Amino acid sequence: MKLICIGRNYTDHIKELENDKPTDPVVFLKPDTSILLKKQPFFIPDFSDDVHHEVEILVKINKVGKHIAKKFAHKYYDQLGLGIDFTARDLQAQLKAKGLPWEKAKAFDGAAVIGEWLSKTNFEDVNNINFSLKKNEELVQSGNTSLMLWKIDEIIEYVSKYFTLKIGDIIFTGTPAGVGKVITNDKLKGFIEDKQLFSITVK
Ligand code: MG
Repeated sequence: MKLICIGRNYTDHIKELENDKPTDPVVFLKPDTSILLKKQPFFIPDFSDDVHHEVEILVKINKVGKHIAKKFAHKYYDQLGLGIDFTARDLQAQLKAKGLPWEKAKAFDGAAVIGEWLSKTNFEDVNNINFSLKKNEELVQSGNTSLMLWKIDEIIEYVSKYFTLKIGDIIFTGTPAGVGKVITNDKLKGFIEDKQLFSITVK
């Protein structure tokens, strides 16, 4: 399985990193080895002094598809979740400056947190979901899927032009503003609406 990640999908986050607003979705992949194993702490890798949390809504693909039209995209997922796209911001900045791929900064072991899954039937409208991240009980990120530049069905249409989507593939849909550095002993808790979907400790 693969993790397909969208970057720069919320205007407020584009501003905080002083990035340009993209004309097409920014897409990158993480390998399955980047998934943080359940109940394990997240270990800050020794090649970074500035690992950031990015809380994101996740979509789990449940049907094989390629060239999926937006109007049919809703048939390709029935579960939504919440995760963290951990990013070695210092390394990413170096790679971006040189025009190089981001994988070393985004796809390292443990860089993908995947919380509990919720059935899509829990949601009246997938384009109006509140989600948030607390760090040490303080709210640091909050967003609503209505604020995505590319909505879930548009993301599925776009990425399936390039990649065949397979059962179990997971899409990270991008982060809102409030990304920030994690340090040892931080505790991160992620929520969709009022429901906690993950809790992890940083080591
Ligand atoms: Mg991200």
